[in-house]
Amino acid sequence: MRARTYSQAAFEQAKKVIPGGVNSPARAFGSVDCGPLFIAAARGATITDVDGNTYIDYVGSWGPMILGHAHPEVVTAIEQAAARGTSFGAPTEAETKLARRIAAAYESIDKVRLVSSGTEAVMTAVRLARAFTRRESIVKMVGGYHGHSDSMLVSAGSGLAEHGVPSSAGVPGHVAAQTIAVPYNDIEAVGRAFANYPDRIAAVVVEPVAANMGVIAPVEGYLEAIRQLCDQHGAVLIFDEVITGFRVALGGAQQRYGIKADLTCLGKIVGGGLPAAAVGGRSDIMDLLSPVGPVYQAGTLSGNPLAVAAANKTLELLEKSDTYRTLEQKGASLEAGLKDAAGRAGIPLTINRVGSILSAFFSQHPVRHFEDVQATDIARFKRYFLDMLEQGVYLAPSAYEAMFLSLAHTQQDIDKTVSAAYNAFCNIR
Ligand SMILES: *Cc1c(COP(=O)(O)O)cnc(C)c1O
Repeated sequence: MRARTYSQAAFEQAKKVIPGGVNSPARAFGSVDCGPLFIAAARGATITDVDGNTYIDYVGSWGPMILGHAHPEVVTAIEQAAARGTSFGAPTEAETKLARRIAAAYESIDKVRLVSSGTEAVMTAVRLARAFTRRESIVKMVGGYHGHSDSMLVSAGSGLAEHGVPSSAGVPGHVAAQTIAVPYNDIEAVGRAFANYPDRIAAVVVEPVAANMGVIAPVEGYLEAIRQLCDQHGAVLIFDEVITGFRVALGGAQQRYGIKADLTCLGKIVGGGLPAAAVGGRSDIMDLLSPVGPVYQAGTLSGNPLAVAAANKTLELLEKSDTYRTLEQKGASLEAGLKDAAGRAGIPLTINRVGSILSAFFSQHPVRHFEDVQATDIARFKRYFLDMLEQGVYLAPSAYEAMFLSLAHTQQDIDKTVSAAYNAFCNIR
């Protein structure tokens, strides 16, 4: 057994001063019946806990670490920026450079506002859409995650009363009621929302590839249909590309599927592992932002020099021509290996993969909708997770999360992962 003594002790100490011992709930490993690992360091594709165990890491800080951990060039960029001062509360030229990089990668983006988290990016996009359309209702997908702003912590109401109900305590009912939650990958449901709320929908917010209910690619025609409905009804299309941006292609899902959003939310990779995120889009909408327009939005640490340095270096490295081909190959290799291992072990497994993000669901059926994910064998996932951890593979501690590959994962890492998975599949039969 791998020792967990120090992680366990650290968790006990943390719980005394931090609610649940963690600063973001998924980190608590609540759904896999074991305490979290406390991390000492990470490098490349591996992460090391305070007990000295090293794991192949498929969490990648939940998405940002596409280059691998502590990439030497990113570390140097951060060090050099830190030596020049860590925050000024005044503009820097590096921010313009980053905004230009983002606009160059996304055809739909004319202008960019940098923020510090994906939550802020989505919150700002929603406010912009409401101001632009002078409407208040927002459509989101059940099981989609868009950060923790009030409007987005909403689940579907019961029956045919589409308006949403809070999915968190503390979210006012009248705020949640302005959000209509419909199933992902259901074209008709979006159409129904527009039919039922004529001239009231400001925006549709969607992860173009769902990645917070495991990975689910959009069904044929889905994104096109949403684009068309938004155009037809004068609503703003917001793509939440916080995971997919710079992940499924340099230009995100928009490049991969050839659809343009009006507003795009970026986070995770765009911060290069530091707290930076962005909202970008059409000039006529973006110029509603203060100080040009009437939509207020601000941030003391927005465009922070360390984060912008990490971001510029990360994007510069991703811009190299073979990045996404390499990531695709690694993803395909892992997918094929896991499929083969499951076949040999006689375990029903459905793998959904888009480039370098994938989910292995314990199910013999296709997984295209949130209910399909809920119908997978979650108890089996828990045992799989714990078995993989014991064998030195660090997966996200939930069946509703993706595996994130990085450029630092080698074929040897993938081979090790696949043989660990084979052992695990045999143990959980
Ligand atoms: C992580 C995530 C967010 C929230 O980003 P934070 O930086 O954690 O606030 C928003 N949308 C999606 C799709 C995400 O995966």
